[in-house]
Formats: sequence, C-alpha cells, structure tokens
Amino acid sequence: MSVWDGLVGQRRAVEVLSEASSNATAMTHAWLLTGPPGSGRSNAARAFAAALQCEQGGCGRCQACTTSLAGTHADVKVVATEKVFIRINEVRELIGVAQQAPSQGRWRVMIVEDADRMEERTSNVLLKAIEEPPPRTVWLLCAPSPHDVVVTIRSRCRGVALRVPPVADVAALLVERDGVDPEVAEMAARAAQSHIGLARRLARDPDARERRTRTLRLAAEIRGVGDAVLAAADLVEVATAEAKAATEDRDAAEKTALLHTLGAEGLATLPPAVRAQVRQLEEDQKRRSTRAQRDVLDRCLLDLLSLYRDVLVVQLGADVELVNPVHAEIRRLAAESTPEQTIRRMDAIGEARTRLEGNVAPLLAMEAMAVALRPQG
Ligand SMILES: [Zn+2]
Repeated sequence: MSVWDGLVGQRRAVEVLSEASSNATAMTHAWLLTGPPGSGRSNAARAFAAALQCEQGGCGRCQACTTSLAGTHADVKVVATEKVFIRINEVRELIGVAQQAPSQGRWRVMIVEDADRMEERTSNVLLKAIEEPPPRTVWLLCAPSPHDVVVTIRSRCRGVALRVPPVADVAALLVERDGVDPEVAEMAARAAQSHIGLARRLARDPDARERRTRTLRLAAEIRGVGDAVLAAADLVEVATAEAKAATEDRDAAEKTALLHTLGAEGLATLPPAVRAQVRQLEEDQKRRSTRAQRDVLDRCLLDLLSLYRDVLVVQLGADVELVNPVHAEIRRLAAESTPEQTIRRMDAIGEARTRLEGNVAPLLAMEAMAVALRPQG
C-alpha cells in the first residue's frame, strides 16, 4: 500500500512526483499539476504532500500520510474555493503561512486547488511568493491546463500533466474501493467519461443516474422553439434544486455556528456589528450557491456534449463504443440530421459553456443553446 494507489492510470505523473519526494536533486519549490476535471489533480497534490511529509516516502499508513491525504496535516495547507475567484486577501494570508518554517513535518506544503480561479493582480501577488520561497516550503498549484494560469506563474513552476484515465481503470477502482457492482461501475465510468468523482456519484446514487438520463432525453425530444424554451427552463430548475440541496444544510449550520461564536444566539434583534458579520456570511453563501448552480449546469452541458458525440459516432460509422445508454434516441438523432448539423449543435453547447463561465444569466445561455438543438430540416 502507498499514497499513490488512489491515482488511477497516472503512472507517468506518479514516477515524476515520487522521484521528487525521495531525491533532493529532483525536487523543486513550485509545481503546476494539470489535468481535465476528474483526472485527480487534487488527489495527486495531496498524495505528493503525503510522500513529502512521510518518513518512508508515502507509506499510506502513518499519521503524516493519513493527515496529509485528508488535508488536516498541520503543515499542509489546502486551499479549495467554491467561489468564482480566489480573493487577493486569501492569497496574502496564504503567503504569510508559506513564510513560516514547518511546525512538525519535513516540508510546509501549500496546495492551491483552483489556481486558474485567480485574477491577474492576485496571480501577481502569488508570483512574488513562489519566486523566492523559504527553503522548506513547496507550492502545489492545480489547474485544468497550463494555459489556465498566467504565463509568469507557469514559467516558474515545474509542470506535471495528468491524463484522462481509461474507463476500465476507473471501473476497477469503483469495484475495488467502493464495492460497486461491476456492471454498474462500467456504465458509470463510461457515462462520466472517466471523471472519477462523477463516476463514483453515478455509481452510488440512482437519483443522479436518473437525472442524467432525463437531461439527455430532454434534449433529444426538442422539436421546435417552444420545446426548446421549456427544456431550458427545466434544465435550470433541476440545476437550481440540486445546488440548493447541496448547500442548504451547510448554510444553516454555518449561520448557527457564527451566531454562537458571536454570542448572539436567540437574540430577536442583532446588534449592528453582528449584523454586518451575518451579512458577510450570507453574501459568501450566495456566491457559493451561484457557483454550485453553474457547476451543475456545466455538468449537464458536458452530458449533452457526450450525447451528440455519440450521435456523431453513429453518423460517421466510427468503431468506438457509445458513452450513453439512451441508444434509441441516439440512433434517431443520427438518422434525422447530418454530421455537420451535429457539429453545429456541439458548437452551440460549447458556446453555452463559455457564456455561463462569463456570467451570462443561466436561463439565457441555456435557451439560446436549446433553440440551436432543434431539428434544422
Ligand atoms: Zn507514511
């Protein structure tokens, strides 16, 4: 057993990182771990942190390993954001922590999970810190691709690229580690296109499988503009409900905890100072919920892209397996349209993703896309 076991299909990256953790000449102070969502960037960063802290180079069993992997090691700081951007003040705080020598571990490890969610001036603040780190500090930045971080940061970091793991490897992981039925595991890994977190969710949650199938059918059934507008509203509603379910309990618990800390539990009217704190919390929560809704919608759009990818596979007679189980709809869409139309539809979905990322109102982005999905005669 070792800390690298959980990194599915990443032999090359594991070689580089484990070599660096055991050989001082292969080590460097700033790393950029890149890979598509679900390839396991943050898991790779944590495993590397564990290997750096562990006396045996990442045994996976000792306290240094288990706490590093869990993100609770005193000298491993993990920054994950649910907001659209990491704030400049958060980065300044991190830099303060990074200046300190490790308190008990061998290294002070700073993991930034979404290094792509930084505005340029924030990146510039971070840049100064990673240019001249203290001798025992190492920065691990994660992003979807090297181009998602500013070039000045990219050029200071050593890059490690993770790849999309093969479907069979992801399915095997679900069977071995989560005890999922092999057939369900295979289906989930394929539908999630090897996104490990999504595959696990699909494998374990029948509701998630149902929602996904519904999204695909909804798109396949669009015949005219009226259907398109309804389908768009439906997609946004599902996403809002899912995001709400994911954040609601946590929001309430956070508010209770805050009031408790401020000694204002059960007060009918809150003193102004407390009110300001509560307002700040509620604003953060609102941003988080917006982010969650957009993430869910983006996942729906990726599901739709995979549907039309399957349609294109059928239209071109390519000898590769379909991603989605809705075969009847895929064959019908393939028969009713041309490959050029399919590609135009995929472009419309890509455009919707870009617009969502650019903060266009979700309903507008989804409507424009849904209208472009209707049959073009
Ligand atoms: Zn260990």
